[in-house]
Amino acid sequence: MNVAAILKDKGRSVCTASPDASLLDIAKALAEKRIGCVVLLDDDEKVAGIVSERDLVRTLAGNGPKILEQPVAHCMTRDVVSCRESDTIDRIMAQMTSRRFRHMPVVENGRLVGLVSIGDVVKQRIAEAEMEAAAMRDYIATG
Ligand code: AMP
Repeated sequence: MNVAAILKDKGRSVCTASPDASLLDIAKALAEKRIGCVVLLDDDEKVAGIVSERDLVRTLAGNGPKILEQPVAHCMTRDVVSCRESDTIDRIMAQMTSRRFRHMPVVENGRLVGLVSIGDVVKQRIAEAEMEAAAMRDYIATG
């Protein structure tokens, strides 16, 4: 099973913003869309960074509420680890676990084409396990 299977299920829309967007705008987007991260795109639509709720909380705690007026570029992670549609779910799960993050943008030919979260990965894994169990039950029942 690969990343393409997850995108087929959940769709390809990603919440994005400019690195010039304020932290308050990012906080509003996270709250309104009930999501955990926003991908920041530069003027050429290339991934310039990622900001998650954790970055926002850490920045707020360290600087106070005035920081909310500042651009998200101050606190985004610039060194973004992305994946491809052909990557296996096992591979991205291993990366998320070892690098301790919960989101991975999907990039093809330099373009953002989707986003996979740890929640999507777990959901896919559970569906796979249920299918295997059903096939096993069927096999035992029909002899
Ligand atoms: P998260 O677990 O996604 O809330 O993110 C935890 C930390 O990792 C935050 O500092 C994020 O900016 C960063 N982060 C999240 N996703 C990625 C990614 N795909 N590549 C690099 N850093 C990331």
